[in-house]
Amino acid sequence: MRIIGLTGGIASGKSTVSKELQALGAVIIDADKIAWRLAEPGGAIWQEYYDRYGDVVINDDNSLNRRAVAERVFADKSELKWMNEMAHPLIRAELVNKVKALSAQEDDLAEEMIVVLDVPLLFESKWQILANETWLVYTTYDLQVARLKSRNNMNREEAEQRIDSQMSMEEKRSMADFIIENTGTREELLKDVHHLWNRLVKK
Ligand code: ADP
Repeated sequence: MRIIGLTGGIASGKSTVSKELQALGAVIIDADKIAWRLAEPGGAIWQEYYDRYGDVVINDDNSLNRRAVAERVFADKSELKWMNEMAHPLIRAELVNKVKALSAQEDDLAEEMIVVLDVPLLFESKWQILANETWLVYTTYDLQVARLKSRNNMNREEAEQRIDSQMSMEEKRSMADFIIENTGTREELLKDVHHLWNRLVKK
């Protein structure tokens, strides 16, 4: 088994890369999906939010009001810190369980498997130790802002707030083993992904 830690900055193109790697045959473990599941009613993260913020973050159908949570968490540095310290160990434990379950499969299958840990905050959380190598999907600050404005309907201020709450792309760049440049077209991005994949499967 080879474990790739795939990361990026918000709207850098990580999901696009992750989808392509899945199409090429990688097994994807998606930290956002894990987090999403743990935030469903009765999940460990749902419970933590309810205990901290009360009814204002819970919808009538018991689901989490994610917008209300985001407003609280991203508007205040100390809340963001609390959220990270609460959620990350819960997500990490699930992620490690999933890797263990995969490696417990039949020897041949497990040996050849390429597993991608798709983790937005891989470096911030210091989870790169869970992977054999790290790949960063890189783009510029201006492109991040533009993509957030068009994809998430954010205004410039909201977009910048989200981007600035993460480690800078330049710092991540200095930490990653391989950089996938996403400053050109989608086709160029996918070509880069295929290139890295071929190197890996030929090992
Ligand atoms: P992330 O998972 O890092 O947040 P996504 O893969 O979802 O990023 O990409 C963010 C947005 O930008 C998406 O709407 C995606 O389709 C678009 N996008 C990503 N890369 C490119 C590119 N090279 N050219 C044009 N649009 C792109």
